[in-house]
Amino acid sequence: MKDFNYYNTILVQNIGSKVGPVAPTIVPSAAFGYEDAEQAEGIFAGEVNSPLYARVGNPTNAKLESVVAKMEGGFGAIATSSGMGAISMVTTAFLKAGDEVLCIGGFFGGTYTLITETMKRFGVMNSFCEVDDFSHIEARLKAGVKMVLMESVGNPSLRLPDIKTIAEMCDAYETLLVMDNTATPLIVRPLELGVDIVVHSSTKNMSGHSAALGGVAVFRAVKEEGDKLLNEKYADVHKIIKKMGKKAFIPICKKRAIRDMGMTANAFGSFLTMLGLETLALRVERVNASVEQVAKLLDEKLPEGMSVNHPSLPLSPDHARYKSDFKQGCGPLLGLNCGTKERAFALLNRLKLVTQTANIGDNRTLALHMTSTIYSDFDVQTRHFLGVNEGFIRVSIGLEDPALIANDFLQAANEL
Ligand SMILES: *Cc1c(COP(=O)(O)O)cnc(C)c1O
Repeated sequence: MKDFNYYNTILVQNIGSKVGPVAPTIVPSAAFGYEDAEQAEGIFAGEVNSPLYARVGNPTNAKLESVVAKMEGGFGAIATSSGMGAISMVTTAFLKAGDEVLCIGGFFGGTYTLITETMKRFGVMNSFCEVDDFSHIEARLKAGVKMVLMESVGNPSLRLPDIKTIAEMCDAYETLLVMDNTATPLIVRPLELGVDIVVHSSTKNMSGHSAALGGVAVFRAVKEEGDKLLNEKYADVHKIIKKMGKKAFIPICKKRAIRDMGMTANAFGSFLTMLGLETLALRVERVNASVEQVAKLLDEKLPEGMSVNHPSLPLSPDHARYKSDFKQGCGPLLGLNCGTKERAFALLNRLKLVTQTANIGDNRTLALHMTSTIYSDFDVQTRHFLGVNEGFIRVSIGLEDPALIANDFLQAANEL
């Protein structure tokens, strides 16, 4: 397993330059002049590697894309306007009316509504199942599902999937597997586990500073022979694969989504994301150690009627998988169960250190009541599936002293 030293080195060495401007340069231009008509033709054909127009790529985004591709062990990447931009790009590039997407495990609210409302409105079918419901997964794969979507760690359910087994099943049925790795950059390496496309909301852990909305999708190379994309169900992208070969994932997403829908990253946002990325490995190491400490302190000291949920705790249903597959941690989140909405509100309003907001993966510790905010539109059954109930607070641990973070929750809980 690659360690945090490895990432500290590749991130600072690849984001900074040794000669000329050390920090990445911001290229804000929307348009780029071509040398001559022949070069313009070559750029549009994808044969000359030079900027075409900022909606389909710009040099600052390209720098971010190369760094994130390296970080994830991918062949290429595309930076997008937000994490939802990355997920909409990938789903709209590959799916059409009549196709089905299988969603495994808990989901971020925006992804859930993208699939169940927006994509459905355009005729894309869906089905959902728990992380370990392998018989449902197999049945849907057998029925010809076109794409499988899952999160490396359920946000906010904190369910941990058996990524390798699911990837093997998707390979057996030649089905694209897309993983949202927002919660676990560096500590989960989806492409090495057999995932085809990784998406991130770079707004979260990657940036850390809450100063830039952004997303990125990372792709493996297309295999010259026997790639699952050559299956008949992906016939509508075969022309692009034939022409572009191993880098085909990029033009598939650019030509079938970004060009027509414009969920493109902007140069200034990509610059800010890279400033955050330089320190990502340091922050991930720190936060994942702190989450365990805070979970343990709260587990020991929370008053009767309140509980903390984190896979590092021995009673968690995913504790064994945490120990075997998530050795460096599972990201910044933990769950607090307060019993009722009233108690959850009372606790939140007594917090002194913690910020109440809808973000995660921030350098500051954040907390939010779920059913009254992100999940307010969802019925009880859906909330249950997504791992939230009336008394549930999602917490995202930041860089502060873990003892101070735990104390803030404890002082608030003890006053209830
Ligand atoms: C926040 C988040 C997203 C959406 O990202 P935005 O940058 O807010 O569009 C997607 N997936 C997960 C797991 C998230 O936490």
